[in-house]
Parts: sequence; structure tokens; C-alpha cells
Amino acid sequence: MLTAIVGINWGDEGKGRMVDLLSDDQDIVVRYQGGNNAGHTVVNELGKFILNLLPSGILRPHIVNVMGNGMVIDLKHLCTEIEKLQSAGVKISSDNLKISDKAVICMPYHVLLDCLEEDRLAEKKYGSTRRGIAPAYADKYLKKAIRTGDLFDEDTMAEKVSEIVAYKNLTIKGGYGADEINPADALKWLKKYGDMIKPYICDTGTYLSDAAKNGKRIMLEAQLGALRDIDFGIYPFTTSSSTIAAYAPIGAGIPQYKVDKTIGIMKAFSSCVGEGPFTCEMFGDEAHALREAGGEYGAATGRPRRVGAFDVVASKYGVRVQGADEVALTKLDVLSYMDKIPVCVAYEIDGMKTTDFPTGEKLRRAKPVYEYLEGWKCDISHCRKMSDLPKAAADYVRFIAEAVECNIKYVSVGPERESYIEIK
Ligand code: GDP
Repeated sequence: MLTAIVGINWGDEGKGRMVDLLSDDQDIVVRYQGGNNAGHTVVNELGKFILNLLPSGILRPHIVNVMGNGMVIDLKHLCTEIEKLQSAGVKISSDNLKISDKAVICMPYHVLLDCLEEDRLAEKKYGSTRRGIAPAYADKYLKKAIRTGDLFDEDTMAEKVSEIVAYKNLTIKGGYGADEINPADALKWLKKYGDMIKPYICDTGTYLSDAAKNGKRIMLEAQLGALRDIDFGIYPFTTSSSTIAAYAPIGAGIPQYKVDKTIGIMKAFSSCVGEGPFTCEMFGDEAHALREAGGEYGAATGRPRRVGAFDVVASKYGVRVQGADEVALTKLDVLSYMDKIPVCVAYEIDGMKTTDFPTGEKLRRAKPVYEYLEGWKCDISHCRKMSDLPKAAADYVRFIAEAVECNIKYVSVGPERESYIEIK
């Protein structure tokens, strides 16, 4: 049984929180794409954790966590993340953490290239997190990547690194005019952090295939959301990997299996990190109030997130491309301060109203069309059943479910594990 937990919006929907909650009855949680460019926040009895690379199941002792071949992994960052969790009392060993031998290593020169390019773009920057993710994925497809499995072949590693570094210097020195990097530093870095990570590296494809064959319950955890997908997102303001549920079995290492159930995580309002069109964006005091209420600052970077009203057009598209079977609506409690709640129900493009999500320049020209729903103006974080919610809050949930054409199965009303409503 494969369940995918994916983002419907721009990311930061609360996927980590929902994976932590819904993985209770799972055996394995797999992260299938991305790197340490985003953070999944989980709050439970052990404390508050921000996970950049590790699957969100790592906080549940009975779960085996897998980092799939679809990921790009900064080894140094991973070592720090593992150490931080271990010092907070979380047990991590090769029994509960397995890293694919086919995952790409995100190298220090990828981070350097990411920064050099964002600086060159200046005003026109993509809003990269500067963690090296795009250059690492680019190298994967150029077939110039070092993969985790390569760490075991020390004899060939030196030759490989020296060839790749020579190639990188063509761009670093030749293109950007920056200082050359040297292969010895790259090798030293790989040895230092690679040795710490090696015990976790294995053929996770075989491990997961056997697990699936034996009826284990496997949860596939995405990073970021549909609107950041490399193909279906707001290109080029996307991430460099596929955030889509259909890719999950590939990025996990079990392409022969299909996802049985896709749960889309969708936030009760909009937020977006980085650049690019964001149709329903709020500004000034209105944005400040929502950002503060929702604590909308990047988990990986601390950057203030852009915020806005719930966007029906973008979210309906997100539900469609994710093939969501059901939705978990998160952060409903954040809207409790509003008198009237704006919802972007359509876009107006060149004088025409549409609810179909456009691409490219058309999206840039889109203007939001708002409807205003009644606010409820009271704390709902203690609500555990739909009937506990004030009528206006329940109406908001129903309105959104109908608008995005998907059943809402869970409503999250706080960051803590138990702060949610299951709609029966
Ligand atoms: P992810 O990347 O999709 O896992 O999302 P993030 O972790 O970046 O952002 C979600 C943030 O919202 C985290 O700080 C969570 O603790 C918090 N959060 C998740 N669900 C809720 C909720 O229902 N209400 C409130 N107030 N906070 C929530």
C-alpha cells in the first residue's frame, strides 16, 4: 500500500506535520525528491523539529525512513541534521534510516554555482535558496554527478572528482571569473562527510520492493508543492525536481508500483517563498497581519514568506496535477483573526474571467477576483470534530472543498500532532 503526501500549493503547506500525524499506521516513510532547500516542521511531545533532508517519519521510533534516489543530498548538512536530532534524543541508526545508493550528492561547488548565478541575475534572480539544488540536478542530467554509491569506490573517486572539478572550473573561473576550486578540497569533503553517512547507504530500491511485496505500508513524502514542480509549476520559478505524486514511486526507487492513495496538503490561505507571479498576494499591513498570524517565515532560510488569500484557481490546478484523492486543509486556525476572509475564486486575464490556471505571460497578467466569506473571530485550535467548529469556519471548509473539487478529509487547527479534525 503506497500513500503519497504531496503539496497542493507553493510548498510550506504543513506536509511534515501531516506526515508525522498520518504515519502512525505506516511502516516506512520515503522522501522522494528535493534537497535541503525546504524545511518540514514537526511539533510533537519531543519538541519542535525542522527537517530539511530527513523524512518526517524519523520522529516515530517504529518507522524505517528512506531517502530516495530522486533526492540531492548535501552530506555535510545531513550530518548536522542527524547530530541535532540525536542530541535531542531521537534514535537514528542504519535500522531506521536508509539512504539510496543512487541519490545525487549536492557538493560545495553546487552551492557556489547557485550563489554565483543568483548574484549574476541580480534583480532578475529566481529567488533560489542558494543551497545548490538546481546545479546538483543539472549535473544529474548532464551525467556529471557524484552519487552516494560512488563513496564506496575510493579508487575511482579521485579520478572522477578531478574530471568533474576540471569541468566545473570552466564555468566557475572561465564563466563567472571566480576563484578556481580544487579537486583535493572536494575529495576531502567527500571523505569526511561520506564516511559518516556510509553506514546508511544501501540499495533502497531492493529494500522497498521487498517491503512492498510483503505488504508493508509505505508513505511517500514530497517536498514543496505542485506550483513548484519543474514541469507543472510556475516555470522558471520552480524547484528543479518533480514534486508530483506520479513521480513518487520513481524518486523512491520503486517505479514498478503505483501510488494507491494521494493525500494533498493544502493551506487555508496562500504563501510563497521566492520570486515569480503570485496572483493573490497581499501587501502592507494586510500581509503583515497574516504573516505574523501564520508565522510565515521560511523554515530553511528564515526568509519572510509572501502571503495572500486562498487561491481557488491555483489550488484546483494543484489538486488536478497531483491527482489528489483527498485533501488535508491546514492552518485554518490562522484565519481566526479576520472579520471577512478573502478567497480568490477566479482570475481576470485581459478582461476575461477564468478558473483555469494559466502559464507564462498570461499568469503574469492575471488579476485576482475575490469573494469574501464570513470570519469566525474566535479560537478554534481546540476543535476536534466538525461540529466543534463555529458555523462560519465549517462553511469556509465546505466552500473550499467544493471550489477545488476535492473531498477535504482532515482539517488542521494547530501545529501540534493532535490539533486536527478528521471529517468522517
Ligand atoms: P512543509 O514544508 O509543508 O512541511 O511546511 P512547513 O513546515 O514549512 O510550514 C508549516 C508550518 O506551519 C510549520 O511551522 C508547522 O508547525 C505549522 N503548522 C502546520 N499545521 C498547522 C496548523 O494547522 N496551524 C498552525 N497554526 N500551524 C501549523
